[in-house]
Amino acid sequence: MKLMKILDGKKTAQKMKNKLRAELKKLNLKPGLAVVLVGNDPASEIYIRHKEKAAREIGINFFLHKLPQKTTEKKLLEVVKKLNKQNKVHGIIVQLPLPKHINSDKVIETVLPTKDVDGFHPINAGNLAQGNKTFVPATAMGILELLDNYKIEIKGKHCVVVGRSNIVGKPVSLLLLERHATITICHSRTKDLGKITKQADILIAAVGRPNLIKKSMIKPGVVIVDVGINRLSNGKIVGDVEFESCRYTAGAISPVPGGAGPMTIASLMKSCLEAAKKFK
Ligand code: NDP
Repeated sequence: MKLMKILDGKKTAQKMKNKLRAELKKLNLKPGLAVVLVGNDPASEIYIRHKEKAAREIGINFFLHKLPQKTTEKKLLEVVKKLNKQNKVHGIIVQLPLPKHINSDKVIETVLPTKDVDGFHPINAGNLAQGNKTFVPATAMGILELLDNYKIEIKGKHCVVVGRSNIVGKPVSLLLLERHATITICHSRTKDLGKITKQADILIAAVGRPNLIKKSMIKPGVVIVDVGINRLSNGKIVGDVEFESCRYTAGAISPVPGGAGPMTIASLMKSCLEAAKKFK
């Protein structure tokens, strides 16, 4: 059986966090991250707990603003505007999804672009598209950090990204393009997905469909980053890639859990540090 490499997001994220903690100490910085949660979506609560734990571990102040489900859009916008003005807050996250009665785009556009550590503001998204240094959605950033940690060459490679969301698929495609890869982006209307994924040197799966990518859809030696988080009816969490069947064909593969997830959190912390540096 051929040995393949596991792209260990947990270990890599820990390494990143250790580096960030040391850098904060050296710079004598105390960044502040404010997270706004409307309602009590259980998945959001878990994500926030992970963010809080990482922030505390590194030395970032964490301010949680928990608002009731019935909070009006007006009230939420007021909270964001207040955070925009607070000097102790360098990064602001409004946890998505928001309740249906609130226009998420409007809220995202109210976050000051210089505090938009999620990189969701149209100004930051535009800067990313133009190849300028900017805040980038943390999952996309984390995927690049993971590939870099394992010294996986990106330049000249054919990267196939499955998924075109604003938070993962699009930004990771742009980051890979910036690093001189050739990109193909697939989505729900893509015909013969397997024929395209089979051409990938690097395959990023960010779909949200359990085990969508099977062994027959990949070429030997491909590097796979599986972003998907899917809970099966038996409670097990799996990715978008059928790990067991693909692991010996792929040259390297990230597991779920323990791949893109921890990298997302560590990358978000890196953005908070960058935000605080700008205010120094
Ligand atoms: P979205 O639902 O916003 O986007 C999913 C994308 O997948 C869409 O572009 C959709 O196409 C495409 N798609 C859906 N079905 C298929 C299919 N059968 N074949 C090909 N493409 C398809 O999801 P997100 O981008 O927000 O998240 C993707 C996954 O990553 C989820 O499982 C999510 O939980 C996970 N995630 C993990 C994170 C982490 O920290 N590890 C962070 C963020 C997300 P179309 O545009 O045509 O609808």
